[in-house]
Amino acid sequence: MTTIAQVTDGIYRIDVGPVKAAKTNDHLQYSLVYFIVSDGETAIVDAGPAVVSPAVLEAIRGLGYDPARLSNIILTHIHLDHAGGAGTLAQQLPKAKAIVHQRGASHIINPDKLIEGTRQAYGQKFEADYGPILPVPEKQVRAVADGDIVRLGRRELKIIYTPGHAPHHVSVYDPQSQGIFSGDSLGFLNTGNNAVIIVPGFNLDYALESIDRIAALNPKHVFAAHGTADREPGEFIQSVRNTTKDYGDIILEATKAGETEEKMAERLLKYHQERNPDDPRTTLHRFDDIIPPYVAFFKRKGVA
Ligand SMILES: [Zn+2]
Repeated sequence: MTTIAQVTDGIYRIDVGPVKAAKTNDHLQYSLVYFIVSDGETAIVDAGPAVVSPAVLEAIRGLGYDPARLSNIILTHIHLDHAGGAGTLAQQLPKAKAIVHQRGASHIINPDKLIEGTRQAYGQKFEADYGPILPVPEKQVRAVADGDIVRLGRRELKIIYTPGHAPHHVSVYDPQSQGIFSGDSLGFLNTGNNAVIIVPGFNLDYALESIDRIAALNPKHVFAAHGTADREPGEFIQSVRNTTKDYGDIILEATKAGETEEKMAERLLKYHQERNPDDPRTTLHRFDDIIPPYVAFFKRKGVA
């Protein structure tokens, strides 16, 4: 069931889901898709995976716009849940350009490596739940770097390079709303304390620098790719920074002491419960995916 909400003037949030997986009881995590309108021109930020492409097109039509006129598909990064559908949409919408950081561009034109990495992260049969990763035609790809502008009518959307979650991650600053489309670089926009989204390849130093770059813009809105809580942006950004850094401090100290991952998870859970006494997510398992990427980062850095 798709829900569409106007989040501020000319910006809509398209939320497809939650959707139950085909073969398991998991509920699949798709990124939110933001639809931006400016002087009759339209763009989306993130595409979701291919399985949601029909719902995204339907949502755009439902808002009274012709998807065939969509000019930009801006990808915060090329992970499956954000950009898996970029090729499917681009092939159907030949006027649309896929906007992607220069480090990700070749991988959406020829997605072989992306598909291989997706199989490692999501399993061999990811297509059953998420749909295929199709190539984006090269002439529809615009590779961008920090500071580049994506024009949409009178809106000048500014690309902010925000690595950490992924080396090709960008956020998008909209001066008109003073809002930041943060992708995964500020984690889940939920209540309570959360770190940025930690996945293999995570770089803590870059993640903290990226948070600081976003904080320096002093945004009035955070349009995160996951989560929809109504939070004061400055408080939320500082909370994400603190949690991301504190998790790192806890895991680094424990790694140096030779502790097991289970012991580290207990420490993280204690930290979390002290700050979020009402949060029902109290299992140790919620930290299973977080610890190895932190440890790998500290090992790469040579401090653990
Ligand atoms: Zn991601």
